Amino acid sequence: MVGIGPGHGVGMTIEARQAMEQAQVVAGYHTYLDLVPDLIAGKEVIGSGMMQEVERCEAAVERAKSGANVAVISSGDPGIYGMAGLVLELVVKLPEALQPVVRIIPGVSAVGSVAAALGAPLMHDFAVISMSDLMTPWEVIEKRVRAAIEADFVIAIYNPKSVKRTEQIEKVREIALQHRKSTTPVGVVRSVSRPDQELVITTLDRFTEKKIDMFTTVIIGNSQTFQSGQFMITPRGYTL
Ligand code: SAH
Repeated sequence: MVGIGPGHGVGMTIEARQAMEQAQVVAGYHTYLDLVPDLIAGKEVIGSGMMQEVERCEAAVERAKSGANVAVISSGDPGIYGMAGLVLELVVKLPEALQPVVRIIPGVSAVGSVAAALGAPLMHDFAVISMSDLMTPWEVIEKRVRAAIEADFVIAIYNPKSVKRTEQIEKVREIALQHRKSTTPVGVVRSVSRPDQELVITTLDRFTEKKIDMFTTVIIGNSQTFQSGQFMITPRGYTL
C-alpha cells in the first residue's frame, strides 16, 4: 500500500519511491497512475478501467498471493480515505497461511499539503470530514459536521462537491454560520502541488461561490483563525 502524495510524485517519500521501484505489479485508479508514469513504466498494471475498487483490490491481493510484489497506490496517504483498509479487510479474510505480507507506506495526505499551501491553519485541533455520502449516510456526516463546528475544531473537508452532489457543502456553510463569524477564514485549494493548482483564502459566508470540485480540499478556520496577506493562520496560543 503506497501513498504517492498529492502531486506529481514530488511529494512522495523516499520509502514510497523505493517500494514503487521494487514492485512488479501496480494497482490503482487511472487518475493516480497517470500522475506517476515513470514509476509504472514496464510494470504490469491493474488499472481502474472497468474495475471498481473492490474488484481492483481483489485482483491485487490475488497477484500478491501468487508471489508477486504488488504496489497498490493511493493518492496522498493510503490510510486516509485510501485503499489500505479495503486491502487489509480482504487479506484478513483469507486463511492465515495464504495471507500475503502487507506493508503500508504512508504518504503526504492532501490535508497536510493543502494546509502548507495556505500557511498554518491546522495549528490547533482539527477534524477531517468527507462529504461523500456514497457509503456513509448523510445524517452521519451532518452529525459529525455539527459536532466539529460546535466544538470549535478547524475542519478540513475532503470530497467536498461533485457534479451530482452539490448540496452538502452548502449545508456545511449553513451549519457553520450558526456558530462562527461570517468572516471566518476559509481556504479552498484545488489540485495542490499539481501544475493546475488553484488556491484562494476567502470567508465563511462566501466560500461556496468559489470553484469547488472533487480535486478540492476546503479548510474552515476555528474562532481564532485569521488571514494575513497570503496566509491563513490558526494561533496555537503562544504569547507574543
Ligand atoms: N488518500 C487521499 C485522500 C483521498 S479522498 C489523501 O490522503 O490525500 C479524495 C479527496 O482528497 C479529494 O476529493 C480532495 O478533497 C482531496 N485531495 C486529494 N488530492 C488533492 C489535491 N492534490 N489537492 C486538493 N485536494 C486533494
